[in-house]
Formats: sequence, structure tokens, C-alpha cells
Amino acid sequence: MRYAILSDIHSNLEALQAVFEACRYQNVDKILSLGDVVGYGASPNECLSILEKVGAVSVAGNHDWAVSGRLDASYFPVDGKESILWTRNKLSFEAITSLNSLELVYQNEDLAISHSSFFEPEAFIYLTNAEKTLNSFDVMSRPICFVGHTHVPKVYIKRENDVISLNIAEFELDAKHKYIVNVGSVGQPRDGNSFASYCIYDSDMHIVELKRIKYDVETAQRKIVKAGLPNFLSERLTIGK
Ligand code: ZN
Repeated sequence: MRYAILSDIHSNLEALQAVFEACRYQNVDKILSLGDVVGYGASPNECLSILEKVGAVSVAGNHDWAVSGRLDASYFPVDGKESILWTRNKLSFEAITSLNSLELVYQNEDLAISHSSFFEPEAFIYLTNAEKTLNSFDVMSRPICFVGHTHVPKVYIKRENDVISLNIAEFELDAKHKYIVNVGSVGQPRDGNSFASYCIYDSDMHIVELKRIKYDVETAQRKIVKAGLPNFLSERLTIGK
């Protein structure tokens, strides 16, 4: 099975379209969305309906639950809170209901996915270094799991006695190890690279590829400004921060 694994789309239709266009040449069988489909960007309805159309399997991100009222929005920074309220007003009752019903973890015979972590996923902690992944590795029942939430792609490898973190674009699984792969963000990358980030995982070949694709940043920015969302949410797309 070939999976396209997307996280943190954040209502950025232009980035999502570029990723799907690239996926057409990747023989993808199934699309997985790791949450935060909405929030920050100006096209929440469009992003949700595209994911639905392609039959994506989705888990909840903190923005998805905050928009739908399942999570208190008060702990978000000002820009985040503003975009959550804006998004809530834009979505239909059906869209809010479907975001509200999303679970935090999905797993099948090949892999598991969660927005933030596998240990207490409801806490939405940020896996920003190898030490923070230890709890998640302890509770993982699959050899490979995928997360997002930090908007920074990264590969964590649990070896016999330690966990290492690597910035690598492609690798083959070693049966002796376990893996947590952060797939980065489609719609708001924060690693200094403005290109949309996503992952292809081939569970038959045991190969993971972390990919970047250029998209129409200017159009996404124009829509954010026109929507009256905070300017910073537009500006950060240029610098990928
Ligand atoms: Zn996010």
C-alpha cells in the first residue's frame, strides 16, 4: 500500500492542491490526514471537502477540535484564537459536526497516526526532540507511526538503547528499529522552507519519503488578507516560519 500522509493543512487550499497534483504521479492508494485541516488559512470549507472527496482517513488536530468546540480555544495565542473564531463562522453545521467527531489516533496493520503524540494524545504536546518521543515509543504497537503538529519534518528512530533524530528525505525501514516520522506541514511550514511538506510511505517496500513542493503562496496570502485574518498569518508563509 502506498500512503500519502498530510498534516497541518491549515485551510491552505493552494498548498493542498499542489500536494495532490504531485501525488498523482506517486501511485498513491490511500490518503491520511494527521489533523489541523483548518485554522490560520482562508479556505477551510474547500480543504475539508477535497479531503472528503478523496476518501482521506483523518484524525483530529487541536485546531479542528477547538473550531468545533471540543477543545477550549482560550489557550491558543491571539492569532490562533482569532482564526479559530473566524473559521467557526465560515463552516457549515455538518463540517463542524464532522470535525467534532474526529478521533485522536488511527491505526491499521501498517502504521498508526496521531496529530501530536501517542502517549496522552489529548494533551497535544510538541515532539520537538528525541527525549520527548520516549513515551510515545513505549506505547506504540506499530513499527512506524506518523505525527505532525510542530510543522517541522523530522525522523525519530528508536534503536536498541537510544532514540536519534534525523533530517532525512528518504529512508528504508530497518526491522530492528521503530520510527516516528513528523511529516511537517502542508499549509504552514515552520522550518524556514516555504514549500509544502508531506510524506509518501510505501508499506510493501518499507520506504519513507519526506517531500517538498512549491505552491502558489501569493494567492494563499491574498486570500488571508482579504478575509481580514491577522497579517502575520499571511507573512509567515513567505518565510516558512
Ligand atoms: Zn498545526
